[in-house]
Amino acid sequence: MEHRGFTIWFTGLSGAGKSTIADILVEKLRARDIKVELLDGDVVRTNLSKGLGFSKEDRDINIRRIAFVCHLLTRNNVCAIGAAISPYRSIRDEARAMIGNFVEVFVSTPLEECEKRDVKGLYAKARAGELKQFTGIDDPYEEPLNPEVVCFTTEETPEQSADKIMGKLDELGYLAPLS
Ligand code: ADP
Repeated sequence: MEHRGFTIWFTGLSGAGKSTIADILVEKLRARDIKVELLDGDVVRTNLSKGLGFSKEDRDINIRRIAFVCHLLTRNNVCAIGAAISPYRSIRDEARAMIGNFVEVFVSTPLEECEKRDVKGLYAKARAGELKQFTGIDDPYEEPLNPEVVCFTTEETPEQSADKIMGKLDELGYLAPLS
């Protein structure tokens, strides 16, 4: 189906649930015949951004690269999904300005909950001082001020969060065919 391009931009702490919700969302969009490309932060860091670290400078380069690819996809009428921590508000806003059709999704999970989940064991390492510049521990995370969607993962299932995002996309007219 030919439809308008748009970018869904996930932001949130490590372990908040960005990848989990994004994966479900991809399935839901494909079921609606929407062309989707997911740029997952962890995957991007192993190829497009291989070699980059976690200094503010490197984080900004990483996010700008993801945003640029999202921009290219969006202008070709594809749905691009970015799912990286993207801790800095100014860089997210820069992505929004470049891309235009931008739906920011804040995956709101308290730090304590992310730490309890500790999916990849990274929080334990950060607390032990083995990992430096870890977002939420010894590196900043700036919450979005006006995200289009907020997913409260301690109160919603991933499925409910994905449905909430689908509802917003529908409301914004992104799921309709181009005539
Ligand atoms: P991120 O991509 O933000 O680093 P992940 O999606 O990799 O986070 O990990 C989130 C973890 O939290 C997964 O193990 C997931 O199963 C779990 N989880 C529990 N409840 C939820 C929820 N409501 N939404 C999303 N993830 C959840």
